[in-house]
Amino acid sequence: MDMLINGAAAQAAENSWIDVTNPATGEVIDRVPDGSREEINAAVEAADAAFAGWSETTMRERGLLLYRAAGLIRRDYKDLGRLLTNEQGKPLREATDEVRGCANILEYYAAIAGQPAGESVSLGKAGDCLVNRVPLGVCGAIIPWNMPVIIMGWKVGPALLAGNTLVLKPASATPLTNLKIAALLQEAGLPAGVLNVVTGPGETAGAALAGHTLVKKLSFTGNYVTGKKIRELAGSHLSSLTLELGGSDPMIVMADADIDKAVEGAVRGRFYNAGQICTAVKRLFLHEKIAGEFMQKLTVKLEGMKVGNGLLPHIDMGPLNSSEQLARTVSAVETTKEREEGTVRSGGCRLAGPGFDTGFFYSPTLIADVAPDAAILQDEVFGPVLPVVTVPDLASAIREANRSKYGLGASVWTKDLGTVKQVYRDIHAGIVWVNRHLTVPPEVPFGGTEESGVGRENGYKALDSYTQSKTLYLGW
Ligand code: NAD
Repeated sequence: MDMLINGAAAQAAENSWIDVTNPATGEVIDRVPDGSREEINAAVEAADAAFAGWSETTMRERGLLLYRAAGLIRRDYKDLGRLLTNEQGKPLREATDEVRGCANILEYYAAIAGQPAGESVSLGKAGDCLVNRVPLGVCGAIIPWNMPVIIMGWKVGPALLAGNTLVLKPASATPLTNLKIAALLQEAGLPAGVLNVVTGPGETAGAALAGHTLVKKLSFTGNYVTGKKIRELAGSHLSSLTLELGGSDPMIVMADADIDKAVEGAVRGRFYNAGQICTAVKRLFLHEKIAGEFMQKLTVKLEGMKVGNGLLPHIDMGPLNSSEQLARTVSAVETTKEREEGTVRSGGCRLAGPGFDTGFFYSPTLIADVAPDAAILQDEVFGPVLPVVTVPDLASAIREANRSKYGLGASVWTKDLGTVKQVYRDIHAGIVWVNRHLTVPPEVPFGGTEESGVGRENGYKALDSYTQSKTLYLGW
């Protein structure tokens, strides 16, 4: 597939392509250009040239265009879902949900077009001020492979609605659906140069985008180590920055919780997308009074999960996205076993046999009796592995949950308002769910604290980060 620069397809040199692999089969399904600094420069220049015209359109016109694009995404959602499953690995149901989720986001921003009102300030005899919110110029977006379509929506929606132009670099493992959606935005009428997608490696294309002096704002989603490098690159020319980084979300289940509902929540919260979600439940804290019943019910659920190629019917969980992700997951579980930092209750191995041999499959894994200082609780495990800690009371659950360096999401499962209040007040997180986990509708601000990042995406406030105030002082 070709990349889109300034609306035209750019041909890469014949020997300069990146293979895209189906994680369920290990087969190469397509290739995209191995974009470098030159392609990034060309895309940024195209975006810069398009800015004047795009920023002069009304917000209502821009909103209508996003709305039309959302309609085209809905028209093609089945094909887009299949493509996403083929490049990312998630079950088709999850892939089509993600595609429709992207349409939801674009429709949300279309619906709030006109919202970021400025203000007027009266200074009495000294005059009056009119304070507008104006777009920033060329923005950059760098996205990961785990939820590439939703994350594209989180960045494209507010950036374009606010009147900016954008250069977007997808992850090399999952560029195909992003490219198709960019083409649908063009089909909806987006002028050339307003959205430019450049495929290429992070170390070259990504770094060139982050360090480009014409980029006024960069929104990055990915891991903490890359986020720190990007902060240096973007900081060198004072670009404003949103960093959506990793997470190690705790789920706390108290003795008064609805156990069956919480078990369902743990399965979905940890094993959706094979555990490769920033806000997945990565640590489960169970009150000791219900731990036995909870573990027994959870084990039954995990052993009934159907793992396989996401295109097959009734699949609950697909493969990991790459051999590297698989190796990291294997290593986290083996380290836990070797150090005797927990007991594997279910799973704990690669899946073998017909349908599994060439893909990157790992079993849904439950690890009980995890030591509070176990490595698996400290690092972000981006795979289908759930470590469980039993706690005597709420205070210990909160204390243990806060031992992580991350602070993205957290959930508490209880019927008691006092418990909710205490968790909301004391836990380090950007979002605290009560009796649910994972859900982030377009209206809800999303982002973390600690090493989970800076800034927020989603919701109408995201428009603030894609605009700045500009004051007209009327000295009558
Ligand atoms: P990653 O940091 O390796 O890659 C993310 C993107 O950055 C890719 O497009 C990659 O090509 C690019 N990149 C890599 N090195 C770069 C560099 N030096 N300069 C510029 N760009 C570079 O992350 P990943 O492993 O692909 O994604 C998984 C991580 O993302 C996990 O930690 C996960 O928790 C996090 N994540 C966070 C959120 C959130 O909203 N907080 C959402 C999804 C994923």
